[in-house]
Amino acid sequence: MEKTIFEKILDNELPSYKIYEDDFVYAFLDIFPVTKGHTLVIPKKHCKNILDCDSETASHIGAALPKIANAVKDSFGADGVNIFQNNEEFAGQVVFHLHFHIVPRYKDKDLHFDNLEIKYPSEKLSDEQFIEIQKRIVSKL
Ligand code: AMP
Repeated sequence: MEKTIFEKILDNELPSYKIYEDDFVYAFLDIFPVTKGHTLVIPKKHCKNILDCDSETASHIGAALPKIANAVKDSFGADGVNIFQNNEEFAGQVVFHLHFHIVPRYKDKDLHFDNLEIKYPSEKLSDEQFIEIQKRIVSKL
């Protein structure tokens, strides 16, 4: 199967602005930043997205995210950060190697976040529906 852009970055076949690296994780600036400092955090081991990710790889990413998010926030003088992550084409995933977006937010700059904008809020579940769903989720964990 052909390598994704991010695997090519990991293999030094494509350039990137590296922010962070350890044995398991690599972070670099997004080529089309939504805000200044928009960073992507990826595992070195290939997985397509979070739905395809083993728990060890997920834990490496999870351990690195707070470090990188704080460093990016402080270095860019941001007032906050959003972290988001897309899985599958229908959910906006374009590059099929797991990645987390760290998006610094700035008080003085408005940001139109189409991805996260809630245009069609879902109906709330009733207590009965919640209990049914909770059972279904627990049976799959
Ligand atoms: P997603 O829609 O979650 O798959 O996001 C893919 C992200 O990868 C987008 O924000 C792109 O701007 C970014 N991207 C694509 N190619 C590159 C590249 N060569 N270097 C850095 N970021 C990239």
